[in-house]
Amino acid sequence: MRMKTKRRTRGKSAAGKKRSKVHVQFPGRLLIVGFGSIGQGVLPLILRHIGIDKKKIRIIAADDLGKWLAKKEGIPFKVQPLTRDNYQAVLDAYLREGDFLLNLSVDVSSISLMEYCNERNILYLDTVVEPWLGGYTDPSLSITERSNYGLRETLLAAKKKMAGGPTAVSTHGANPGIVSHFVKRALMQIARDTGHKTKKPASRHEWAELMRDLGVKVVHIAEYDSQVSKLPKKIGCFENTWSVPGFHSEGICQPCELGWGTHERHFPKNGHRHPHGCDAAIYLDQPGARTLVRTWTPEHGPFLGRVVTHNESVSIADYYSISKGGKVSFRPTVHYAYRSCDASILSIEECFGNNSELQSEQRVLMDDIVHGMDELGVLLMGHKKGIYWYGSQLTMDATRKLAPYQNATGLQVTAGVLGGMIWAIENPRAGVVEADEMDYERVMEIIEPYLGKMTGAYSDWTPLEGRTEGESMFPVDLDKTDPWQFKNFLFS
Ligand code: NAD
Repeated sequence: MRMKTKRRTRGKSAAGKKRSKVHVQFPGRLLIVGFGSIGQGVLPLILRHIGIDKKKIRIIAADDLGKWLAKKEGIPFKVQPLTRDNYQAVLDAYLREGDFLLNLSVDVSSISLMEYCNERNILYLDTVVEPWLGGYTDPSLSITERSNYGLRETLLAAKKKMAGGPTAVSTHGANPGIVSHFVKRALMQIARDTGHKTKKPASRHEWAELMRDLGVKVVHIAEYDSQVSKLPKKIGCFENTWSVPGFHSEGICQPCELGWGTHERHFPKNGHRHPHGCDAAIYLDQPGARTLVRTWTPEHGPFLGRVVTHNESVSIADYYSISKGGKVSFRPTVHYAYRSCDASILSIEECFGNNSELQSEQRVLMDDIVHGMDELGVLLMGHKKGIYWYGSQLTMDATRKLAPYQNATGLQVTAGVLGGMIWAIENPRAGVVEADEMDYERVMEIIEPYLGKMTGAYSDWTPLEGRTEGESMFPVDLDKTDPWQFKNFLFS
């Protein structure tokens, strides 16, 4: 059943010129759990583009972050941390059938909240498959249990159980999230530019066939964040452009993970397959924030990114897998290659130097940012034209004109949250869905106005560029027969 969609306009944009389009009406209540950098950034977008009565919105969190904004908007805010023991009773006080739970917290189990919503016919969205507190660090858990692969397996099990239920959009921020839609746009563009005749694929299998037939072997989520603060990085403080605990968990506590392609010939020495599940990804015995790879974006050309574990490294690799009789014949290598902002790179080094213990002082760069851009896209490699990057080049200046209370990194995420929420309201009985399974053009239509300059660019760069043996100061171990081998990207 598709919910009736009304298109109206309301209010004024931040620039005070254009009127905002109301994409959909939502008559129910909305509970936002977690009101940090993403929660605060998405609130004005929800109020602009979803027709909801402000009086029906409530916010709960574990601390006072953003309380000032809730007060300014007249939305009730309560410090009420959810735990394994109290979440049902707490949520019961806010939610009924037909409502929406927007989970933008850390340390709260996505699966528990999804199950809660499924049982009560409540719509749900999150931006990460999050475990309960301790789920990334508890030494009694296996690496698989602490990995995004393992967390996604719990999601896939829940998805089976909740088929046909109320829509629960899983991991729909920027990445994971909208980068999955970028991959589809990029594939269609490469097909057009290489003369590969295709209609728009209609199923997961057809998308995977298109990727295979175009010759794509590797997909990087290639991101370069050049936002800088007017304040120098303070010693003893972890600074970043989004959640510090979130980045510490995935970059430093969880293992490095990547979707492992069928073209790979050199299994990493410290690499492992998981004992169960879809088998689309592997992990390394080291954190992603310490795993550097060569990658490329149009603005910066070649640079080093970190293979920080992310849900999309597994979900995209899984979505684009082709198998018959249990044997996989095609799968791309997929991973994040993240060059976080300058202050965060210094913070990571400081944290590793302190035995990976998170600094007690933490800060998200915001009003103090003087310039910079978050260049976030997907880099598809191995096809006829070499490499193709497609994504968002969003500067801090542009962000300030588009939406309040966030930096460029935040806006790419909050646009994704908005797009996912609207899609869920328009498609309320889709069960548990990942970004790869949604209508990418509908979501892109909603989010594109917030992504700055959308750019597609080809290059003949490969990770072998400038690495001729004899010219290097140290021995190099390369596979020159296939530039797209993971070992050629690794910086060691
Ligand atoms: P943040 O650290 O700024 O804020 C976290 C919020 O969670 C705070 O309001 C905190 O009070 C709340 N919280 C913590 N424990 C809680 C509990 N037990 N019960 C209820 N609330 C609790 O984080 P952020 O930058 O706003 O990020 C929010 C989430 O979005 C994180 O999980 C992060 O990993 C994720 N994220 C996803 C993407 C993406 O692109 N998919 C990007 C950025 C952030």
